[in-house]
Amino acid sequence: MYAISIAGFDPSGGAGVLLDLKVFSLLGIRGGGVITALTLQNTSTFLGWEPVERRYVEKVLDLLFSDVPVKGVKIGMVPTPEVLEVVVFYLKKHRNEISYIVYDPVLRATLGYPLIASSQMLFTIKKELLPLVDTITPNLEEASLLTEIKISSSSDLRKAAKTLLKLGCKSVVITGYSSRGNVYDFLCGSSYFLSFSKKLLNTEFHGTGCAFSSALLCFLLKGFSKIFAFKKAKNWLYLYLKKAQDFPIGGRLCLFL
Ligand code: PLP
Repeated sequence: MYAISIAGFDPSGGAGVLLDLKVFSLLGIRGGGVITALTLQNTSTFLGWEPVERRYVEKVLDLLFSDVPVKGVKIGMVPTPEVLEVVVFYLKKHRNEISYIVYDPVLRATLGYPLIASSQMLFTIKKELLPLVDTITPNLEEASLLTEIKISSSSDLRKAAKTLLKLGCKSVVITGYSSRGNVYDFLCGSSYFLSFSKKLLNTEFHGTGCAFSSALLCFLLKGFSKIFAFKKAKNWLYLYLKKAQDFPIGGRLCLFL
């Protein structure tokens, strides 16, 4: 089974295509990658990013889709309207051959740096990209930006998830709602809404959203149902985070794979 990650290059290996491919490998999925942006960062500092030329992204997608059947697509950082347009074009063209598309809408790095060129892109993301997506995995801030709903309670969260479903994706996972020492993630589909909680860890990690969405894609590709794949991906990630917490590597953010 072959999947691709369409995402940014993080030289520290803590996020983006490098991390996604580590997850694919650990979960037994063969993978390739399309770099959409070159970021300048390590685990302490984010200096900036440069988008990859639209023509390059176009050529790579052409090469990959005309070769090994691509059964899964994980989308991460889509930095500019030009790259977004190309990604949408290729996903539309090949949607029927792809089993699952998981989109982690990384709009801002944990270190605070914006990962999209302008907020106008949100309009195209919602109109063109979301209807192609099986599962979108925003954190609270990303869900709030995409839906324009301020999320401060679980009923706001439910409202935000329903709004994202209405935009056309088949299911929504909103991550990182913390309360009383626990962190909750919510999975919402047209006929279900469930939450999953874990004890909040006291370390800040780099790339948890990337790793979760890639793990979710892998479990979906292995044939698990959405609900089961969601639980398996959460448990799998939590084990790695706990291990990394005991042997931390990194500056302001801890690397865990
Ligand atoms: N994808 C890429 C390429 C990134 O560079 C980053 C952040 O730096 C992310 C995703 C998001 O990762 P995080 O939420 O850990 O900052």
